Amino acid sequence: MATKYVYFFGDGKAEGSAKMKNELGGKGANLAEMTNIGLPVPAGFTISTEVCTYFYANDKTYPPELKDQVEEAIAKIEKAMGAKLGDTTNPLLVSCRSGARESMPGMMDTVLNIGLNDTTVDALAKSSGNERFAWDSYRRFVQMYGDVVLGMKPEKKTDIDPFEDLLEKKKHAAGVHFDNELTAEQLKELVAEFKAAVKKTTGKDFPTDPREQIYGAVGAVFGSWMNDRAIVYRRTYGIPHEWGTAVNVQAMVFGNLGDDCATGVALTRDGALGVPGYCGDYLINAQGEDVVAGIRTPLRIEETLAKDMPAAFKELDEIGKILESHYKDVQDIEFTVQRGKVWMLQTRNAKRTGFAAVRIAVDLVEEGKITDKEALSPKRIPADDLNQLLQPVFDQAGKKAAQDGGKLLTKGINAGPGAAYGQVVFHADDAEALYLKNPAVELILVRRETTPEDLRGMKAAKGILTAFGGASSHAALVSRQMGKVCIVGAGDLNIDYEKATVTVGDKVVKEGDFISIDGFTGEIFEGKVQTKPSEVIQVLINGTMKAEESETYQRFAKLMSWADKYRKLKVRTNADEPKQATQAVSFGAEGIGLCRTEHMFFDHVDEFREMILAGDLESRQKALAKLLPFQRGDFAGLFKAMGGRPVTIRLLDPPLHEFLPHDHASQSALAEKIGIPVDTIARRVHELHESNPMLGHRGCRLGIVFPEITAMQARAIFEAAVEVKKAGMDVIPEVMIPLVGYIAEFKNQEKVIREQAELVFKETGVKVEYLVGTMIEVPRACATADQIASGAEFFSFGTNDLTQTTLGMSRDDYGGFINHYKENDIVPNDPFQMIDQAGVGTLMKMGVEKGRSARAGLKIGICGEHGGEPSSVMFCHKIGLDYVSCSPFRVPIARLAAAQAAIADMK
Ligand code: ADP
Ligand code: MG
Ligand code: MG
Repeated sequence: MATKYVYFFGDGKAEGSAKMKNELGGKGANLAEMTNIGLPVPAGFTISTEVCTYFYANDKTYPPELKDQVEEAIAKIEKAMGAKLGDTTNPLLVSCRSGARESMPGMMDTVLNIGLNDTTVDALAKSSGNERFAWDSYRRFVQMYGDVVLGMKPEKKTDIDPFEDLLEKKKHAAGVHFDNELTAEQLKELVAEFKAAVKKTTGKDFPTDPREQIYGAVGAVFGSWMNDRAIVYRRTYGIPHEWGTAVNVQAMVFGNLGDDCATGVALTRDGALGVPGYCGDYLINAQGEDVVAGIRTPLRIEETLAKDMPAAFKELDEIGKILESHYKDVQDIEFTVQRGKVWMLQTRNAKRTGFAAVRIAVDLVEEGKITDKEALSPKRIPADDLNQLLQPVFDQAGKKAAQDGGKLLTKGINAGPGAAYGQVVFHADDAEALYLKNPAVELILVRRETTPEDLRGMKAAKGILTAFGGASSHAALVSRQMGKVCIVGAGDLNIDYEKATVTVGDKVVKEGDFISIDGFTGEIFEGKVQTKPSEVIQVLINGTMKAEESETYQRFAKLMSWADKYRKLKVRTNADEPKQATQAVSFGAEGIGLCRTEHMFFDHVDEFREMILAGDLESRQKALAKLLPFQRGDFAGLFKAMGGRPVTIRLLDPPLHEFLPHDHASQSALAEKIGIPVDTIARRVHELHESNPMLGHRGCRLGIVFPEITAMQARAIFEAAVEVKKAGMDVIPEVMIPLVGYIAEFKNQEKVIREQAELVFKETGVKVEYLVGTMIEVPRACATADQIASGAEFFSFGTNDLTQTTLGMSRDDYGGFINHYKENDIVPNDPFQMIDQAGVGTLMKMGVEKGRSARAGLKIGICGEHGGEPSSVMFCHKIGLDYVSCSPFRVPIARLAAAQAAIADMK
């Protein structure tokens, strides 16, 4: 049998289903599914993604079988709709729509009203009894077809779209504002002008044969898979270029037939905060693209649809309930109301902010629609999105002050929660350029509306503000996905791109001025408004709010308790100070995975410098003796803060050179302070200089050459442990030796540590259980992990250095080329953010296997930056680590990611 490339849906039955996303794309699979569950879907067919793959592998041609299969499917649509392509009394019109496996909002192009020509337009006018409608549809068709299929859409957005230009002129001549005010006669003229423009630009007549039109549109959809914005989008969201898109050809239903017609897009629950109930936009007497394009500001479904079209609203409400129960998730739908009847054109699981994700997941569990395990799915709550619940919000007092001071500019629709202030920038390219110059720059992208071309700039901005468009506009949708603070449809904003100003009443804000936007309320202020910590932080960390006062916190806590129920990995934190440690414990940390002792020296840097500058052992020991009590105090503080949880302390790691003053003025100041000649200091700085300090005299190499440093640190650790134990608290110190590559290095340092332990225990008469282990952060340590584990009682992967040394890529220098690498798909992502599983990950696996072969049940963790990054956490689960360790604010994210990994394992 020939390969099946075409899947029909219609008349209550479909050949595909929601399970076939890979073949049919998300849109096609869900159109099939909705058909199968009895929802009203106009008949159509889906050409599978395989054809797209074939298309690109075979010089943009189609498989020979395709044509017959398409013909057969067209005949089925004709039968289902009782209309015929090109018919002179009852013509069938279709749309041609792209649809990849993962939705790519607005990335690829759609053509509506295919099948119209000078003959069928008259037939449509007669059969609908609405001449204006027929010509409006024709006008739209020629424009979309010209732009998308005939390549007349301008390349640069500063260039003028010839059709928009003609439309503007026509509206102007007619003295109207909106296209829906043009008469049939004027639209007729416009079509003629459009077709003349096509002829002029392409040298060919506009195609009149409906089949030729369909094939042209299908080819354009496949072609759009490789257009620049689609490629950028896939790179941003990690969608493989090989997947390809499907194409859907579907009978048209019309929202532009009159005032009992409409088109709309909606979420079955609000995607910004997760509040139950429809949230969306509609336009009466309009077609598809009008709502998202922000041409007319749409109406809100939840506010007025029930009044405008009671029957349609009721039907839509029923459909929403059926969809949520069927898909067990909030849906993002597109629909058209034709003469009072609802038609479904699309459904997919809705994109949502972190706030909405948590609320929706918890609500669905409470409504009995999903289990707690399902609620934790990474598809519902990407672990990173929890971060949004921890970000600052505007302070009420600060907002009131701004308001009283007359700084409130206006209000728009709150589309992406959070608080953001930044400098106004009007163009996405400028935002991107400013960001590349300074990644810390704070920008608010202010635009009339956004388009997929603005994606990179939106990424660079802290917040997004638009004057047009509703809760389902491009800006709103993309911000939700990116977790950006966003306000849309702030109609009072008068944006002048030319003058680079935005005016509200008599207030003028210039490019570069600061504004503040409150994505919870839609308020827009001049200047910077004071922020305060989020509710979760207020409850957990600052104690300025009670748990029972914050619903956000309660949902967060519930979710975390479910995560803890399923996860296998323990989660520790990287902390050097008692305050950080306490915070981390509030976030759920179960120990310290990395205390960087050198951070403690920054408070006593002069004594430390004295130690480094010491010319002989005796003066070095004198300096070390001064440092000992500081370190002991710091360690005791940490042990107390951790209340009996394990604390891993890494011995001195960075090159000593980093601690010395480098310019003459500060060298003289130090000379005076510690009584050493400035020349000596300058000489020592020079001696300690290394050309490659990251690979130089650092890590355990310091303690091996200067064992007295290790001895002092070990003594401080054990004295502190004894002190805390004497005070009646449990304490579990784990001493960690950095940068070990040879077992001999480990043994050398272990001996110094254990000697000090014995001495301290003898002196104090108190014994403390402790472990001595090592960081695994050079490839040699992985390769000889069995030897190292014969001595080490635990391993902790230091994946920052392990990545640096495995890739031979300096963490301090890779910024110069990594973006180029990412944009050219040389690397899938930044290896210093996500573990390079194939490379570094393979070494880690080797380390785990070899380590445990020598010491059964060896405790192994990770303490690099990767320990708080969800995909890396999941990888750590997979290779059998015992814990991950990350910065305090990432602890909740790691807990969730660990649960997600464990749940994925259960399937
Ligand atoms: P996108 O992926 O950009 O949303 P779509 O293929 O969903 O593109 O189509 C864009 C708009 O056109 C949507 O609002 C959709 O509802 C409308 N549309 C598509 N096909 C039809 C159709 N057969 N009848 C009526 N409207 C349609
Ligand atoms: Mg759509
Ligand atoms: Mg390191």
